[in-house]
Amino acid sequence: MKILVTGGTGYIGSHTVVKLLEQNYEVVIVDDLSNSEESVLDAIKEITGKQPLFYQFDLCDSVKVAELFTEHKDIQAIIHFAASKAVGESVQNPLKYYRNNLDSLINLLYQMEQHSISNMVFSSSCTVYGQPDKLPVTEQTPFKPAESPYGNTKQVGEEILRDTTNAIDQIQAIALRYFNPVGAHESALIGELPKGVPNNLVPFITQTAAGEREQLSIFGSDYDTHDGTAMRDYIHVVDLADAHVIALERLLDTKQKSSFEFFNLGTGNGCTVLETVKKFEEVSGVQLNYKLTDRRPGDVEKIYADTSFANKELGWSAKLGLGDMMASAWKWQKRISKID
Ligand code: UDP
Repeated sequence: MKILVTGGTGYIGSHTVVKLLEQNYEVVIVDDLSNSEESVLDAIKEITGKQPLFYQFDLCDSVKVAELFTEHKDIQAIIHFAASKAVGESVQNPLKYYRNNLDSLINLLYQMEQHSISNMVFSSSCTVYGQPDKLPVTEQTPFKPAESPYGNTKQVGEEILRDTTNAIDQIQAIALRYFNPVGAHESALIGELPKGVPNNLVPFITQTAAGEREQLSIFGSDYDTHDGTAMRDYIHVVDLADAHVIALERLLDTKQKSSFEFFNLGTGNGCTVLETVKKFEEVSGVQLNYKLTDRRPGDVEKIYADTSFANKELGWSAKLGLGDMMASAWKWQKRISKID
């Protein structure tokens, strides 16, 4: 069974490709390598013994997308990861985000219609909720206005899927709303590879511990949480990858209850920045150089998932805890920083 994985050399994409290959799916990857490296393909091969087909191009190029589907008429489903995801950059350069994240989705849906392909799993995000009034957030929690153009592309992406699956009987989709994906594959052969200075907390923690950054700034210590730092729901990327395969099979087996479904993917545990730092120090044995600084503009104070719908409907729940997340992220960082 042939599955197209867009963004398959990226962070979540590569972990999902490993799961798919381990379960004997045939995988075609399209990635423009704007935020990943071709060497990820070698790592995938080392883990699974299998080499996915790889195409390097931008999914905004509708001609190339059409050629791909003409060449691979037997694609059964698409897992669509490819997107730009830096919140700050999206504020600076909104058109890049609207073009990149929406044109690619539209091009894919158009080809699904042309080639009678039925199934799409879409990368969404808890950013669609903004700062919710009530926690934890369920899938029914109303969306607040997006905090950034990036967040808006995820809200609009879901709307495009809702409208398209309503209008075209044969197309069905599942949007997976990720909370905060962290950690790395147990082999430490794949993991998060941020380009330049990391925006995200965990790569910044591990790079600081590895001596590549001098100090971690903890953004905000006056939030309404028990220690004053912001709260998130961190989820292991390997658990997330499992959920993609389950969502894919739900579509392939036509088990979905409506043509467009959406699920929260988190652990359900809210964890503050300071708790995350402490857990990292505990599992790594490294004392982290950090300071408390001002809030980062655009950050929500706290968010964590109600996962009961995903648990019940998908039969999925996160298995790995914060200790596993920090330990695997550190193992990965040590390998790429060549620390023994
Ligand atoms: N954070 C921090 N220092 C950093 C990076 C992030 O204190 O160098 C905080 C950030 O303010 C937020 C949490 O860590 O409260 C998670 O941020 P991240 O960027 O990883 O994910 P987000 O929830 O913003 O998507």
